[in-house]
Amino acid sequence: MRSIAKNKVKLANYIGKLPPVQHSRLQKIRKESGKWLPIWSGDEHYERFEIHGWPTNMVVDLGKSICTCRFWQITSMPCVHACAALSRVNKDPEDFCHKWLTMDSYKATYLHSLNPIPGEALWEKSVYLKPLAPKVKRKPETLTKKEEKMLMRNLQEVKNKKVQLS
Ligand SMILES: [Zn+2]
Repeated sequence: MRSIAKNKVKLANYIGKLPPVQHSRLQKIRKESGKWLPIWSGDEHYERFEIHGWPTNMVVDLGKSICTCRFWQITSMPCVHACAALSRVNKDPEDFCHKWLTMDSYKATYLHSLNPIPGEALWEKSVYLKPLAPKVKRKPETLTKKEEKMLMRNLQEVKNKKVQLS
């Protein structure tokens, strides 16, 4: 309850499409994206790119929000390759983050509040029986190495006696 109330107030006056944590994450990715070279495939909508760089080239589809590195699909935030392609088409990567990474979702998360609860002494008493705890089944005790050796020796002795008798 405390953390919900705290988080609600924390970013109440924050302006930006993404919350600070997501924003700085994306900034790092954008910075890294400068090392990659986007090459347009020639498609009609200007959405498919081959992204050249080390260790290997990647393929980005801005229309489908996918990259062969799979970062975008997994995190819902454009990867370095996608950011390289987006800067090529002059689009803001923030607009390509999934809605659950945005401030709107953050605000929606902390929109509700929990009902405060008084101490247990003030709780209403039930007229019904208290629930009974289930019976505890005890596990067979595990033997120590020494006990195991003794047991094996005894078993062997019994076997030997049987052999002698027959
Ligand atoms: Zn990628």
